[in-house]
Amino acid sequence: MSIVTNKELLDRAKAGHYAVAAFNTNNLEYTQAILTAASELKSPVIIEAAKSEIDYMDGHVFVAMLTAMAEKLSIPVGIHLDHGPSYEEAIRCLNYGFRSVMYDGSALPLDENIANTKAVVKAAHACGVSVEGEVGVIGQAADGPEGKQNGMIGIADPVECERFVNESGVDCFAAAIGNAHGIYKKKPELRFDVLAEIEKRTGIPLVLHGGTGIPQEDLRKAITMGVSKINFSTVMRKGFLETLADTLKNNPGDWDLMKMLTPAKEKMIEIAKQHIIMIMSDNKA
Ligand SMILES: [Zn+2]
Repeated sequence: MSIVTNKELLDRAKAGHYAVAAFNTNNLEYTQAILTAASELKSPVIIEAAKSEIDYMDGHVFVAMLTAMAEKLSIPVGIHLDHGPSYEEAIRCLNYGFRSVMYDGSALPLDENIANTKAVVKAAHACGVSVEGEVGVIGQAADGPEGKQNGMIGIADPVECERFVNESGVDCFAAAIGNAHGIYKKKPELRFDVLAEIEKRTGIPLVLHGGTGIPQEDLRKAITMGVSKINFSTVMRKGFLETLADTLKNNPGDWDLMKMLTPAKEKMIEIAKQHIIMIMSDNKA
C-alpha cells in the first residue's frame, strides 16, 4: 500500500475504537524502525516531521524516501507535517507531497488561529490533503504542565474548540487537556471532563500530543472519547540514543557505523511496537 491522508486513517480509527500512532522522524534508521514495527504488527501508522526535521532531511528527499519504503508494505502510511508554524510552511509541504499538514496557531488569539487555519484548509483540501489544527497551547513537560494546569493555562476551552472546528473546516485537531511534550516530571493528569465536552461539541477525530509517559489506561480511556491519533516522539529518541551510547561504550574503537546503529534501531522498533499495541492499532491495517 502507499501513502494515504490522515483523514482516511483517523476516520477509520475513530469508527474502529483505536488510535493511530504518529511518530516523528528525522533520518533513515528512525523511519525504517517505525515502518518495520508497524508492518510487523499489521498496523496503520503516521510518520510525521516538524519544520526543523524537514529542513534537516530535505523535504523532497524525505517524501521520496518514505514513499519508496511504504510502497513495498501492505499497511497504510500517513505523511504529516507536525506543528506547522505558518501558512507558508504548510504550502511548502503540499509542494513536497505531504498527504496531511498541521497548522499550529494555538499561541494566537482564537480569531487569528481560525482565520489562518481556514486558509491552510482551503489550500490543502484543494490538493486532497487533510489538515490538523490546535486549540489551547500544548507546552513542554520540562516547563511543568502541572503548574500550568493550576492556572488553567494550556487547557482548551470546549466552546472555543466547537467554534474552531465549525469555522476552520479542519479534519482533526489537537486540544490541550493537561498533556505536554517531552518527559513528564510526574504522572500527567489528563482532563477527561474537558475531553468529553470537546468530543461532544465537535465530533471530529481528536489528536493527543505528548504521548510519551501517559499510562496505557489513560491512552485507552482517551480513545473511548474520540482520540484517534496519538503522537510519540521523545520515547523513541530517548531509546535510540541511550542504546547507541551503550553500544559505543561497550565497543571501544569499533567504527563500523552500521554495526553501531543497528542495536539502537532495534530498540526503536521494540518501543514503536509497544506503543502501537498500547493504542490498539495492531492488526487494523
Ligand atoms: Zn505536538
